[in-house]
Amino acid sequence: MDECLFCNIIAKKIPAKFEYEGNSLVAIQDINPKAPVHLLVIPRKHISRLSQAEEADAPLLGEMILCGKRLAEERNLEEGFRLILNNGPKAGQSVFHIHLHLLGGRVMSWPPG
Ligand code: AMP
Ligand code: ZN
Repeated sequence: MDECLFCNIIAKKIPAKFEYEGNSLVAIQDINPKAPVHLLVIPRKHISRLSQAEEADAPLLGEMILCGKRLAEERNLEEGFRLILNNGPKAGQSVFHIHLHLLGGRVMSWPPG
């Protein structure tokens, strides 16, 4: 996956601010934050989008959510945080390596645009 931005970040070929580095996941600061806390939870495995995930990826997808929860707890965001997964260009996906946004630190409106 030489062309994939997040594969290259995980391989440390492109710099990023890492907030977590685990066996199956990493979390980095979003380069263009949309909230005071804006992290991206990214699996080391390249899956281009959620609709390409398989049943066998269920534990990994669960880990992503729990990682987002843990990062939110560590940052005292229990009163309000959001985990967002954009699937496909019409939903705003711009990097085609699955990732979970953790947004927090401000009041958020509903529904998102
Ligand atoms: P999405 O639009 O859901 O695919 O999210 C991709 C996110 O990656 C956006 O919020 C971007 O700001 C972020 N992003 C793009 N390039 C980088 C980078 N080099 N380092 C960190 N975050 C990035
Ligand atoms: Zn990738």
